[in-house]
Amino acid sequence: MKKILLPARPSVNLDADEGRGYNAGGCSGFPDIALENHHRFCSVPGYRKGQSVMVHRLIILGSGPAGYTAALYAARANLRPLLIDGGVGRGQELLGAGGQLMITTDVENYPGFEHGIQGPELMHRMRQQVLRFGTEIVEDLATRVDLSERPFRVWVNEQVYQARALIIATGASARWLGLPEERPVWEGGLGGAGISACATCDGFFFRGKEVAVVGGGDTAMEEAIYLTNHCTRVHVIHRRDALRASKIMQDRAFRNPKITFVWNSVVEKVHDPAQKRVTGLTLRDVKTGETRELAVEGLFVAIGHKPNTDLFVGQLQLDPTGYIVTHHDVRTSRYAVFAAGDVQDSEYRQAVTAAGSGCMAAIQAERLLEAEGDSMPDSAPDW
Ligand code: NDP
Repeated sequence: MKKILLPARPSVNLDADEGRGYNAGGCSGFPDIALENHHRFCSVPGYRKGQSVMVHRLIILGSGPAGYTAALYAARANLRPLLIDGGVGRGQELLGAGGQLMITTDVENYPGFEHGIQGPELMHRMRQQVLRFGTEIVEDLATRVDLSERPFRVWVNEQVYQARALIIATGASARWLGLPEERPVWEGGLGGAGISACATCDGFFFRGKEVAVVGGGDTAMEEAIYLTNHCTRVHVIHRRDALRASKIMQDRAFRNPKITFVWNSVVEKVHDPAQKRVTGLTLRDVKTGETRELAVEGLFVAIGHKPNTDLFVGQLQLDPTGYIVTHHDVRTSRYAVFAAGDVQDSEYRQAVTAAGSGCMAAIQAERLLEAEGDSMPDSAPDW
C-alpha cells in the first residue's frame, strides 16, 4: 500500500509552480493547499488525457545514494522534488527503499565516516536529510513510465504522477545463477529457504552451520567474511582461479580461518527442494568437468548485479547489458530525462560515485528547468 511521506514544514521558500502554467489544471494554488490534500486534489487514479493532474517540476525514481543526493540538491534548489522510493516489492528481484546499502554492513569508504558506518544507518541519515529540505517521498514502486512526451508520466499502480523532468536512480539488483532451485520455496525452489542473496539479512539463520558463497568479487568476500560471524565454515565457490575482489578484501578473506576457497567450480544443483531446505550442492569443476558433492545448509549468491531498467526498455537507449546510456555525465537519450547511479554506471558502482552523479543530475535538471522558464519543449538542440 502506497504511503506518502511529507516533510516537516521546511524553512526554505517552497516556490512551487503555481501561476506559471505548469499545472494541468486545478492545482494552481499548490502552496495554499494543505500538503496532505495535495495528492487528493492534484493526482487522480486511472489517468486519462485531459484529466487534471498536477505536474511536478521534478520526479526522482529511486532512493539509493544517487536518488537521495539528487533529491537533496533539487530540494535545496527549491524544485520541490517528488521522490518515489521503490519501497515495496522487496524480494529477490527488487530492493526496498534505500537500495543496495540497506543490505550492506560496514561501509568504510564513504567519506566523512572515519570509523565506517553501517549501510542502513547511512541511508537513514540521507533520507532524513532530504526530508528536512522539503522532498516529498512516495513509499512505493513505480510500475510504468511514459517518456514519449512531456510532461512525463510515472505510474505507481493506478496512480499517475507527472513531471517536467525526471531523474532515474533505480539502481541495480542482485544477479542469480539461473538454477531452478533459486525459485521461491512456494514455487518448488529453495529461494528464501536456504538460498539467499543477502548475508546480512539471512546470515543469522545459519548460525552454527556450514554454508557456501558463490562469486569472486567484493560482494562475495564481504558476504563470506560476514557469514563467518555466524557459521562454522564458509566455502567460497568461484568459477576461476583468481578473485576479482579488491586486494584489501581478498587479504581479509584469505586471512580468515573459517573461509575455504573452491576454485574453478560452478554450482550445478542445489539439494534438496523436496525437503524444503538446503542439504548440499553438486559442484562441477569447469576445467576437468568432474562433479562432486559439498554438504552445506545454505547458499549465498553474490555474483554481481543487473541494472533496474525494465521500465525503460524501448523508451531510453540502453547498452547491451541493460544499463542506461548517458552522455554529458547524466543525460539519457531522452531530453529532460536524467539517469544517475548504478542504473547508468557499470564501471564504478560505488555509493560515493552514485551520490556524485545524483548531484550532477539535480544540477543539470535545475539548469534545464530554469532555462526553459514557462515553456516545456519536447527537445532541445544542445541536449
Ligand atoms: P562483481 O561484478 O565485481 O563480481 C561478480 C563476481 O561474480 C565475479 O567474480 C564473477 O566472476 C562472478 N560471477 C558472475 N556471474 C557468475 C555466474 N553466472 N556464475 C558464477 N560466478 C559468476 O560484483 P560485486 O557485486 O562483487 O561488486 C560490484 C561492485 O561493487 C564492484 O565495483 C565492487 O568493488 C563494489 N563493492 C565494493 C564493496 C566494498 O568496497 N566494501 C563491497 C561490495 C561491492 P568473474 O570474476 O569470473 O567474472
